[in-house]
Amino acid sequence: MIRFNKAPFVGNEMQYMQQAIEGGKLCGDGPFTKKCSQKMCEAFGAEHVLLTTSCTHALEMAAFLCGLQPGDEVIMPSYTFVSTADAFVLQGAKIVFVDVHPETMNIDETKIEAAITERTKVIVPVHYAGVACEMDTIMEIARRHGLKVVEDAAQGVNAWYKGRALGTIGDFGCYSFHETKNYTMGEGGALVFRDDKYVEPAEILREKGTNRSKFFRGQIDKYTWVDYGSSYLPSDLNAAYLYAQLEKLDEINEKRHQIFQYYHEHLKPLEEAGYLELPHVPEGCVHNAHMYYVKTKDLETRTRLISYMKEKGVLCVFHYIPLHTAPAGRRFGRFCGEDVYTTKESERLMRLPMFYNLPMEDVEYVVKCLLEYHEY
Ligand SMILES: *Cc1c(COP(=O)(O)O)cnc(C)c1O
Repeated sequence: MIRFNKAPFVGNEMQYMQQAIEGGKLCGDGPFTKKCSQKMCEAFGAEHVLLTTSCTHALEMAAFLCGLQPGDEVIMPSYTFVSTADAFVLQGAKIVFVDVHPETMNIDETKIEAAITERTKVIVPVHYAGVACEMDTIMEIARRHGLKVVEDAAQGVNAWYKGRALGTIGDFGCYSFHETKNYTMGEGGALVFRDDKYVEPAEILREKGTNRSKFFRGQIDKYTWVDYGSSYLPSDLNAAYLYAQLEKLDEINEKRHQIFQYYHEHLKPLEEAGYLELPHVPEGCVHNAHMYYVKTKDLETRTRLISYMKEKGVLCVFHYIPLHTAPAGRRFGRFCGEDVYTTKESERLMRLPMFYNLPMEDVEYVVKCLLEYHEY
């Protein structure tokens, strides 16, 4: 069976984890955590990067730091993972969903302004498949209306928009290092931000409401409870695994692009024949080959294709069920405007196996099955 995903493994993970164990310090903000943050600051031109226990938690931190009041509104696409919404629901916010672009499945920036009310505080672009949202327009709308922008860049680590790394463009960026993502630590994430004014509140929030980070830097001589907080620090053992991957930033990226390119070139005939639609990357976006998906004619065609591929030993999977159709989505949010593409396009989308250690023979076999199914 060809799996859909497998946690990437590049080689030095064991050695670094052993080093962490031998160092005798496994709690948060240890040597490997610091190395990971530093590496990301350099590679992505980020000002501040705080490693977290997940992207969900990075989003929760961002939502908290935006200073939301109950009843405030947050604009996002409905075609996303639950955490994008949950993090803001936790702060008492109402979620306002807007439609996506069919070519990228990213938020349609031309629909955002119609969704803005007096209660709107934040816009959350989600960079689906590591392909950037139209950030210039989104940032301009946010500036004009005095809104914050939180990028859900869970899938967008080491992907770029007009020369800027995803996650570094908005007020906050949130990365995921879950095992299904390009770079991993099993479970983990990071909060990225530029403005120095967030350093102290973010550290306090992440350190159980204490100013312990300041204490460790020797800036104060004892630490205390200063505000609300939680525990968002990952163990240095997990960071050791991640550091091995971040050292191979380009290598992982190149391998994923090789798989993406193979799918893209060899499935072209099926697109030309009108059987499948292939992904589109807009000008100015350098994606990270996080995902390869195809779109079938409709839901029924997709269901048939998924079961055919399964019979052939290939796991292909669909993705998000639009949040506004879920029970919690109806309770905590509303869809603004018409759902022209969100539901329809989500029902056609099918993801193909894609992970760093996927052998090229397997990629060739997946393509062969797809061609055979369509009698090509
Ligand atoms: C994976 C993902 C998340 C959640 O990441 P975790 O690290 O598992 O919390 C959030 N948003 C999007 C778009 C994702 O793909």
